[in-house]
Parts: sequence; C-alpha cells; structure tokens
Amino acid sequence: MTKIRFNYRTALLTISIIVSSNASAFQILPRISDVDRQLTSVGSNSLLDGAGQWIIGTFVPMLKHPVHEAITLNALGCAVPLGKESDCITTETVLKHQTLLYGVRWPDDPPFALNRTSPPRILGCNPTVTLRSTAQPKCWQGLFSDAEKSAPQRLAANPEKPAFGPGSYLLYRSHFGDLQFFHSMAARDGEPAWETMQRMRMWARFLWGIAIKEIPTDEYIRLLDIEQLGQYFPGDMTAINLLATGIVAVRKNLDEVAMGVLLHMVQDSFSQAHTGRSTETGVQCKDIPRFPQPGKISQFYSYAGQIGSQHDREDTFKALSLQTLQTQPSVVDASRVFLTLWQEHVSWEHAEKYFDCVFALEDPSVEAGPGPYSR
Ligand SMILES: [Zn+2]
Repeated sequence: MTKIRFNYRTALLTISIIVSSNASAFQILPRISDVDRQLTSVGSNSLLDGAGQWIIGTFVPMLKHPVHEAITLNALGCAVPLGKESDCITTETVLKHQTLLYGVRWPDDPPFALNRTSPPRILGCNPTVTLRSTAQPKCWQGLFSDAEKSAPQRLAANPEKPAFGPGSYLLYRSHFGDLQFFHSMAARDGEPAWETMQRMRMWARFLWGIAIKEIPTDEYIRLLDIEQLGQYFPGDMTAINLLATGIVAVRKNLDEVAMGVLLHMVQDSFSQAHTGRSTETGVQCKDIPRFPQPGKISQFYSYAGQIGSQHDREDTFKALSLQTLQTQPSVVDASRVFLTLWQEHVSWEHAEKYFDCVFALEDPSVEAGPGPYSR
C-alpha cells in the first residue's frame, strides 16, 4: 500500500517535472494572454485547462512553432542573421507588438462563441467562454480533431462543395472549409487557381480597408460592398465580431489586427504545404517596380487530402530557415513590403499592385490538389 502510494507520488512528480520543463521550453511566446488566464479561472475545470494548455502548446505544431510571429518580427526590423529568425521571438518584442501578432495568429486560432443552445458534445467545452485554443484547449483540440475527421467524409459525399461553410464554427471553416483562403489554400481539390485568388483578393481588400481605417469595423459585413464577402459572413457579423469576438482588448486597434491577418495569408503562400511556387527570377514587380518579384505561384493546395503531420513539417522554423537562406525576396521580404505600404498608408488600389506581384499565377486555370503531401 505504502509502495503504491509512493509510486503514485513519484509518477505525479515526474509528470509535473516533464510538464514544467516542456512548458518552459515552448513558452517562448507568452501565448496565454491575460484575458485567457481570467477566462480559464472562471472555466469549469481550471486545473484541467492548465494541463490542456500545455497539451495544446506541445502537440499542435502551428502553436508550438510560432513561425508567423518570427517572420513578422523579423520584417518589423528585428536584426538577426538569415536562418535565425526564431531568435526574434523574445517576451519584450512580443509584448511590444502584441496586437499585430494577435492578428498574425488569428487565422490559425480565431476566437468564436460556442452555440449555447446546442453546445458541442466534446469534453471540456464551456459555451459561456469564448472558444480559443488558449482559453479552452481541450475543447479546441476536440473540435479540431472532429473537423479533421469529418472533412474528408463530407468532401467525398459532395466533392463540388467545401466541407464546411457558413453555419459551421470558424475553426472548421478556416482550417478545413470555405475559408481556407485565410491560409492561401484552395477550399477543395479541383478548384481552379483563379477562383482561390479571387477570394484571396476579396479578403485582402477587406483587411487593407480596415488596416488603413477606410472600412468601418462596426457595420455588417454583408452591407459592405466587397464582392462576395457578405456570402461568407452573412447575418449580423461585423469586423469587430469576426476579428475580436470575446477579446475586447484588441478592438481599439483593429487596424493592426487586420494587418496581421493579411500578413498571415501572405506568409502561408510561401509555405510549400500551402502552394507550389516557382523559383524567383530576379525581375522587379511590373506595376510597382521598386520591389522585386517573388517566384510565381504554380498551384494552390487544399488541406483535406494532405497528411497533417507532413503539412506541419513545412510550418516549422527549419522550413523557414531554408527559405530565407535560399530565396530572395523571401517570405520576410514580402511581409516587410506590406508593412511598408501600410506605414505609407497607401490606398488598396496601390497596395493591390504589390498583391498582384506576390500572388502572380503561372496559369490561372491550374486546379488545386493536395500537393506533395497527399495521403
Ligand atoms: Zn495559416
């Protein structure tokens, strides 16, 4: 009996040491915001949520490797040798650019409200707390796995339609459904590249308008005259709801959030798990020749047919280093140009010239596929 209790305690101690050492290894980025901390403390099971936060930070690669944050901080002027972009992530720089980085993270982890009348039947989901990986990690992971499992079945049943659309949770739509353009990806295999681009352009125009404070953030998106955007966000959805549900602190700087969200799409388009890109040629952008042109896009990929672990391998610091060491203009350079244009407060018509240059297609009719990481 004593022995058993001893072993139990030893086991607990061992677990806590593993947890704390791993937590310190991965918590370079203060990803648990004060808001999340407060929400966790009012959640139904704060102890499990704390452990869950470690689970999320350790096993969800895009949160474990804050690659987007490193690219953005580098583009903002952090001086490190090529290939050492991850060194840009320090508590000080992250805190300094917190709102922009919240936006950069947003497409991977957009906060949203759970359905209160019919909450998801997943352990750890509290419908009174805004869903975000750091606020309800177990629930987040449960929903993500559910989306990952059901997306291929839905696509098999109806290959012409994205697996998820309006009415589904933002997490499902953004990673596996109609909003994959947040990540420079097609909504389904077989989608022609011009169609993916059309959505990305619509999204960029909307985000740019918010970033330069020309599009109101408190008007229903369906009433804004931005192509088909209203179909994606019907009902009483405003930019405030979309970009900052439950996160009041960032609302006064929604321009920074929007810029971060736009940078995320730009950055993903340089990941070999998201698009195929040709080698850069050294030519300058045709309509905005003060900037060099990145390699053209040869194909967009869609996530449903990919092997998740292989996709994630491309979203790591190693893949980023390989890119910045071997490519110019790199993902960091392209991010820096958008930041420069934003600081210059240019109109969308002007910024669009660089958009067209970064997202130039080799052949608009090429259909999307799973890319090199197919199942
Ligand atoms: Zn992404």
